[in-house]
Amino acid sequence: MAKPKHRMTKQRKLILEVLRSTDSHPTADWIYEQVKKEIPNISLGTVYRNLRLLSEMNKISVLDFGSSYSRFDGNPHNHYHFICNNCEQIFDIEMPFNERLNEKINNETPFLVENHRIDFTGLCPECQNKN
Ligand code: ZN
Ligand code: MN
Repeated sequence: MAKPKHRMTKQRKLILEVLRSTDSHPTADWIYEQVKKEIPNISLGTVYRNLRLLSEMNKISVLDFGSSYSRFDGNPHNHYHFICNNCEQIFDIEMPFNERLNEKINNETPFLVENHRIDFTGLCPECQNKN
């Protein structure tokens, strides 16, 4: 009998649970520290590999910031973010995802759009009060 392509291992399930328990869009290091409390001998490499698999399985999303560390999101659905320039916290923005933007760019440019991402940047409420 063929093995299912992506069996949900105990490790992977825990990583997913940890990520879904927060809305802070954490780094892999943070997730690793949490998972280690339950599975002390897990390696950072294993955490990275499982995060990549979970992303391929569309169970999570990855916010890639080029040279900086990727941040992970337990919400796999398309949505927009606000990133604070001061404290670097990432917040979800409650605004409907605009599928029509993809069509518009498809129709008006030579590019074949697969998806889009919008990150708003500025100061979060807390950092506004600090200044
Ligand atoms: Zn801030
Ligand atoms: Mn998010």
